[in-house]
Amino acid sequence: MNNDIKAVLYSKEQIDEVARNLGERITKDFEGKNPLVICVLKGAVLFMADIVRQIDTYCELDFMDVSSYGNNTVSSGEVKIIKDLDVSVKGRNVLIVEDIIDTGRTLASLVELLKGRDAASVKICTLLDKPDRRVKTVKPDYVGFEVPNEFVVGYGLDFQGHYRNLPYVGILKPEIYENI
Ligand code: 5GP
Ligand code: MG
Ligand code: MG
Repeated sequence: MNNDIKAVLYSKEQIDEVARNLGERITKDFEGKNPLVICVLKGAVLFMADIVRQIDTYCELDFMDVSSYGNNTVSSGEVKIIKDLDVSVKGRNVLIVEDIIDTGRTLASLVELLKGRDAASVKICTLLDKPDRRVKTVKPDYVGFEVPNEFVVGYGLDFQGHYRNLPYVGILKPEIYENI
């Protein structure tokens, strides 16, 4: 599996450091606010596990599966709720944890949905941000790394369901796409 990677962009150590720094900021910002921390499945699951262990104040966790991508690397522009939250967001201070913001379509829809359900506030924490690719206005409050316009995998991010378990973020070799 490691042989499929052209280059490592962010190592486990770099991601750990970023999670510690973001966790400190999040702790200060959400102290006493009992935030509902929402993991956007499945891509954010590894980052979520890291981030919440760096939040040193009371919080609750929930999970949602929203999809804007099929099996391809090109956005379909369509957002579906595959798994909804268990907990009500009404009056809650929400922190969405995401793997990557690309066009912004997924998060723009999600933020709108949660605000429509009367969340008191909605903030976004993303491991990766590709600001150059934005189609919808989405401004994440906490960003791990700004990434170049390349399709990345690992640390939760997949290509056709694979590579989520890589302990780093990397760029796939072109022949992997070409062989499909
Ligand atoms: P957006 O709606 O912002 O265009 O897309 C967000 C979702 O698309 C992400 O949560 C992720 O699942 C997928 N995505 C966008 N860019 C990449 C990428 O470079 N690599 C991978 N593996 N998924 C991506
Ligand atoms: Mg995602
Ligand atoms: Mg995906």
